Amino acid sequence: MRILITGGAGFIGSHLAGTLLSERHKIIIIDNLSTGSLKNVENIKTKENVEIFIDTIFNKKLMNELVQRCDQIYHLAAAVGVQLIVNNPVETIETNILGTDIVIKFANRFNKKIFIASTSEVYGKNDSMPFKEEFNRVYGPTNIRRWAYAESKAIDEFLALAYYYEKKLPVVIGRLFNTVGPRQSGQYGMVIPRFMQQALLNHPLTVYGNGQQSRCFTHVKDVIKAMIGLMEKVDCIGKIFNIGSNDEIKIIDLAKKIIKLTNSKSKIKLISYKEAFGEGFEDMKRRIPDLTKICKSINYEQKYNLNDILQEMQEYYKIN
Ligand code: UDP
Repeated sequence: MRILITGGAGFIGSHLAGTLLSERHKIIIIDNLSTGSLKNVENIKTKENVEIFIDTIFNKKLMNELVQRCDQIYHLAAAVGVQLIVNNPVETIETNILGTDIVIKFANRFNKKIFIASTSEVYGKNDSMPFKEEFNRVYGPTNIRRWAYAESKAIDEFLALAYYYEKKLPVVIGRLFNTVGPRQSGQYGMVIPRFMQQALLNHPLTVYGNGQQSRCFTHVKDVIKAMIGLMEKVDCIGKIFNIGSNDEIKIIDLAKKIIKLTNSKSKIKLISYKEAFGEGFEDMKRRIPDLTKICKSINYEQKYNLNDILQEMQEYYKIN
């Protein structure tokens, strides 16, 4: 198959491209390098079955051509990362809503199956755990910029489901929980790359709030396997799936674990949310996926646990 990956030079997109290539597919990448980078696709860019377009999904002429030429789409182009979202709310809302609208419209014009990368943020601050796909969304007020990300991704889901319902467009929606792996940048907030780099430099680890908030981390390779698995099953069309791990860790314990693993001299520095993100920031206290639906639908199992992930990230950041 010829597969179009929007955001294919990003952290997750570039891993997806590599995996699909190894499965003998042809790949078309479109990426404006806003948070992605050419370095991420260095290892595949000269391969025969790869085409890379450094351009935006807002280029309708190009999107028309690329969608027409492909058999399937993975739509990963988005504004992501808490730091980016809080600092650039206009870009977040416009890319995630208007950009997705364009991609889905072309998918519909040429009737191409499309994977929509959504997020666990969609659950907001609902505190019933673990999150099942049909749970309510609980958001804060509109003057807290973080919620724009959750809202924008929820709109993407509504739109994709609406196209499925009204136009029979084959869509699959994956809600990705905290995904980690090589090539992920700490620049936009992601905690493991940040802590790992801080620890390797013997700098203080910047734990936000009191560090009692927790997350579950999944290796990018497990996430990609799940995405491809969902796209391969006809039964998954028109449905939403959590993709993640339910191995929970508090952020303060994650910091301690990374200091120990790296033999670092770093200390832990507690930083208030106000200091990190400015006035009126809200964090999610916990975020655990219920994986029943994906386990029932595809043969979903995680090959990598948190120790494997941290080990690999340590090796990666030692040389990058
Ligand atoms: N975090 C932190 N220090 C950092 C970056 C993040 O304590 O330097 C915390 C953040 O407040 C959140 C968790 O780590 O509670 C995960 O943050 P990340 O941005 O990786 O993902 P999120 O789950 O917030 O989307």
